[in-house]
Amino acid sequence: MTAPIAIIGTGIAGLSAAQALIAAGQNVELFDKSRGSGGRMASKRTDAGSVDLGAQYFTARDRRFAEVVQQWRDRGWVAEWSPSLYNASEGGLLPSPDEQIRWVGTPRMSAITRALLGALPVNFACRITEVFRGERHWGLQDAEGLSHGPFSHVIIATPAPQAAALLAAAPKLAGAAASVAMDPTWAVALGFSETLDTQVEGCFIQDNPLDWVARNRSKPGRESSLDTWVLHATSNWSRQHLDSPKEAVIEQLHGAFAEMIGCAVPAPTFSLAHRWLYARPSQAHQWGALADADLGLYACGDWCLSGRVEGAWLSGQEAARRLLEHL
Ligand code: FAD
Ligand code: NAD
Repeated sequence: MTAPIAIIGTGIAGLSAAQALIAAGQNVELFDKSRGSGGRMASKRTDAGSVDLGAQYFTARDRRFAEVVQQWRDRGWVAEWSPSLYNASEGGLLPSPDEQIRWVGTPRMSAITRALLGALPVNFACRITEVFRGERHWGLQDAEGLSHGPFSHVIIATPAPQAAALLAAAPKLAGAAASVAMDPTWAVALGFSETLDTQVEGCFIQDNPLDWVARNRSKPGRESSLDTWVLHATSNWSRQHLDSPKEAVIEQLHGAFAEMIGCAVPAPTFSLAHRWLYARPSQAHQWGALADADLGLYACGDWCLSGRVEGAWLSGQEAARRLLEHL
């Protein structure tokens, strides 16, 4: 039997690559440092129900992605979310409706990667620290000092700074990944026992510590006894408060939210903060994926394309395509 293909990262890029490889008859084995799949499409289970802390929704502009999203919808993994949209700026809070179709995982964002993972072989809580080449095969070393392998090829589907460290065997690819800066985002979830007196369900924000707020409970399939909200700080604010304690971040972003939302905002009954260190690439690239086909080493992720869910999925497809064309 031929050795399987290792995929490091079970975000949407890694799982997109996995799906394409499985469909072509290949075997894969997946690794993730977290305890579950999803990466930045994560949802956090809380006493107030699940809240989407990373990606809020996604759009499908590419035909191939749009087709696959329709299949996900038919299987009940995603649904359209049509929030009552607003825009907040120094001019105030104003309705900002549009015709854009926006998708969310159901009943939570992480449902998509969980469904894509299915029963594929995966090692969770396994942080890979080194990707090394043996005589004929690849091996992986994890943070506990354990070795994994042999593998015929390796696909690295992590954010760029983490990919750069794992691409040491291919210095050109490592250099490209290292050139990608990624910006942080502080995310805060709040739950209120009384429904806030506002029509807002999603709001794009300018000139503020916040750049987005969403009423999590307004997304399809979310069950929560509380009125749950997710607040995202801008990259700039997040960088300036990178090492602030979570309590201080919650307090300041709760304050900014109370000021912009235009209704009474009581103290939340529930709150949490999460820091995304590598939330988004500072710049979009058009690489598709990185490949050293002779070595059998590949990298993919949102940073190879648009910095969005769609870009990450397309990048995973591209890594798989380039691997398969070289078999
Ligand atoms: P990730 O989801 O980051 O997956 C990488 C995986 O690799 C992770 O699971 C990680 O644990 C694992 N990993 C990393 N290093 C190692 C290692 N050494 N060993 C093992 N495993 C490792 N996009 C949209 O389209 N719409 C939005 O509304 C939106 N909002 C966002 C809001 C926030 C706050 C954030 C953070 C992102 C948002 N995005 C949004 C972007 C979107 O979430 C990402 O583009 C997409 O999820 C990236 O997928 P990925 O597979 O490339 O990477
Ligand atoms: P989209 O088309 O809904 O939004 C793209 C951008 O257009 C928005 O950021 C906003 O500035 C503007 N916009 C869209 N509709 C608007 C409306 N009705 N009123 C006012 N402004 C509007 O979705 P997309 O292109 O798929 O982008 C995904 C979203 O994910 C973006 O908002 C992006 O900022 C966000 N994102 C956030 C992070 C993070 O770390 N916080 C990372 C990646 C992506």
